Amino acid sequence: MAVAYSREIYEEAAAELERRRIKANTEAAALRERMLAAEPRIREIEQAMAGASLLVARAVLNGGDVEAAVERIKQENLDLQAEMAALLHRHGETADNFEPRYTCPKCQDTGYAQGRMCGCLESLLREAACRRLSRTIPMKLTRFEEMDLDFYPAAPDPKTGVSPRARMGDVLAYCRCYAADFSPESPSLLFQGPTGTGKTHLSLAIARTVAEKGFTVVYGPAQQLLHQLEKEHFGRAGGDSEDALEQSDLLILDDLGTEFSTPFYTSCVYNIVNSRMLAGLPTIISTNLNQKQLLERYGEAITSRITGTFQPLLFWGKDIRQLKLRQKLQ
Ligand SMILES: [Zn+2]
Repeated sequence: MAVAYSREIYEEAAAELERRRIKANTEAAALRERMLAAEPRIREIEQAMAGASLLVARAVLNGGDVEAAVERIKQENLDLQAEMAALLHRHGETADNFEPRYTCPKCQDTGYAQGRMCGCLESLLREAACRRLSRTIPMKLTRFEEMDLDFYPAAPDPKTGVSPRARMGDVLAYCRCYAADFSPESPSLLFQGPTGTGKTHLSLAIARTVAEKGFTVVYGPAQQLLHQLEKEHFGRAGGDSEDALEQSDLLILDDLGTEFSTPFYTSCVYNIVNSRMLAGLPTIISTNLNQKQLLERYGEAITSRITGTFQPLLFWGKDIRQLKLRQKLQ
């Protein structure tokens, strides 16, 4: 798939590749310097080996038994290599270690191999685009440990007979496992429940854990992400948000349904949900809307995709933010 990224994203990825190249080269050079200091004989061996090709050329020019001369030089070279190996072995090194050890041996950290963009550069670009989109992830309240179940009523709900605290304990445990075991084959999740029941908190905790595992994560309130798409679509901003939204390992669309209701946003939501579903990539959507409201707001095509493929998780309880605020004021 051809993906066009903005100049800033390319520059960010190129800077990372350069950092990797410099690191590999510096480490290799530093090791060689250390070994030369410890074993000065290594320099003589290197010079002798470099001179060997010159000796072959001279043997050819001088005439005589070229084959025997070449054979002799070859043998000398092998002896030199063996001597070098023995010297390095004393220090637990090999001659290979003088070669730069690149993060990506395929392209030697240049980003291109055999005239094509290397996979390592593709993932660097994707990561940079995701980072840009998720720049605003609030870093507070993003740990599972900070979820305080005491704010949820312990008494059973009169209608269902289930305690919201016990229920939310299960949801919390599920989300922890989901984040710990995350892979791009993980299922999509639908967080449903009233405002202030912990949907954003658990979304952020998942985002953080999954990102720490090295996956690309885009997290954002639906309003903000859709607004960014709108600006890029109508040319008021350059960017790569659409690709990042559709291709990140995990997309978390927080508070769906609180954005303005416009045909453009609805078609964006459809495109995002649909292309991620086709690519088999997981999405987490959190919303205050119930099934009926989702249907009214987004129509059959989007709602059936969400209800057909997302695992629903119901969030219970009173508005925690209000409870906390009240507690502070007392
Ligand atoms: Zn590469």
